[in-house]
Amino acid sequence: MQRIVPFQEPVTKSIAYMKDSCRRLGLSEEETNAICDPQEVRLFKLPCNVLGETVIFPGILCLHNNARGPYKGGIRLDANVDIYETIELARVMTLKTAACDIEFGGGKTGIRVDWSQLLAKYGKKSDDWGFMRVIARSVIEKYAKLYGDLFRQHIYVPAPDMGTGPTEMAIIYNHTQDPASVTGKAEGVAGWLPGRKEATGLGVAWVTKLYVEEVMGKDLSQMTVAVQGFGNVGSHVAKYIYEMGAKVVGISDIYGGLYDANGIRVDQLLEHAAKKGTVVGFEAQSLSNEQLLRLPVDILIPAAAGHVIGVEEAKDAQAKLIVEAANVPITLDGMDVLNSRNIPVIPDIIANSGGVVASMEEYSRSLTAMRRTKEDVFDVIRHKLENALRAALAVAEQQDIDLCRAGVELAVQRVYQSMKNRHQI
Ligand code: NAD
Repeated sequence: MQRIVPFQEPVTKSIAYMKDSCRRLGLSEEETNAICDPQEVRLFKLPCNVLGETVIFPGILCLHNNARGPYKGGIRLDANVDIYETIELARVMTLKTAACDIEFGGGKTGIRVDWSQLLAKYGKKSDDWGFMRVIARSVIEKYAKLYGDLFRQHIYVPAPDMGTGPTEMAIIYNHTQDPASVTGKAEGVAGWLPGRKEATGLGVAWVTKLYVEEVMGKDLSQMTVAVQGFGNVGSHVAKYIYEMGAKVVGISDIYGGLYDANGIRVDQLLEHAAKKGTVVGFEAQSLSNEQLLRLPVDILIPAAAGHVIGVEEAKDAQAKLIVEAANVPITLDGMDVLNSRNIPVIPDIIANSGGVVASMEEYSRSLTAMRRTKEDVFDVIRHKLENALRAALAVAEQQDIDLCRAGVELAVQRVYQSMKNRHQI
């Protein structure tokens, strides 16, 4: 069948690996396209009032695949949002929910908000969080009004991503008045979930521990670790992996990084960062992000932006294991180099899926009004992530492929089966 829109999409890691899987599984070109392509992409514009002027924010809503459940994925507000990035992130959600066996599909929203341009235009300082919060609120209110029906019908269930958080999700709830229409809601909002904010970082720490013990045959206390990013994911990964006994020697954020060969006191760093808004200034040797990615550590955990490990970083990497806590932190070419150097990678679709498992719990709690404790939530995350990692390790061994390809293969098999059962393919 001819595709309606001739796709110019760049070949990303998820497309390349999905196509590989489809080939191994013997799927036709039509079936392959049906799995890889988004089911629907909407472009929209949100005219918002900023200090008495109308500013138009363009956006993309990608409904990638709903074979296994409602489209699920976060709302990103960022200057670099573009159509291909949003489609790629939605596709990664389809793979993530399937690899972890969650009854959701994959979706994503990207809204282009150029904070530095807006701050400059309206003569605001770069730390005018109040101004940025007012804009984010206005953007999300318009967005909720535009797509409220999709959320209320649970066709697409949004969540936070870069630039949005629990407050913005509460705004969506205000609009829909349905607790199950959105996840990642602020504490106290109907259907909110204890443990949601720790979920992704804790999940990353658990899969890393499991891999170190069962595949490397070592203990976390023998491991040195570097973490890039100290936001929601990075700070929790660092906290939990430190509490599990690993020696965290390097940590960075967008402003710079730290190195201490004797181990950074992550508990103290958390207090420092809470006061200062950055890791910079904590007592340790300073370090750039380029240096952090090249540290001679056992485990490197990129937990910040996407595409930070390309060919050069992969050539220079000295880590024995890389854990993708961020979404798509390694480029397709970077992965080829790491594979040629036999540096194993735990893929994002398993490593950072604690957040979407928590979303599944929040969604079901919102549907039933049943209370969950933090411990219940953490148990489910641990169980789901460990199962996913073990299943992917088994596929990797059976097929003699790397763990990232194996995770994708596990997901593609499940999505294909559901699409077949629902006559979507
Ligand atoms: P966040 O905005 O809370 O924190 C991002 C952190 O990364 C900050 O410390 C920031 O200073 C740092 N950073 C940003 N760009 C950087 C760069 N170029 N170099 C070094 N540091 C940089 O975001 P988050 O929620 O922690 O998300 C981080 C990553 O994890 C993103 O890729 C996101 O898509 C992914 N992710 C998040 C969740 C979640 O539950 N929050 C779930 C799955 C995946």
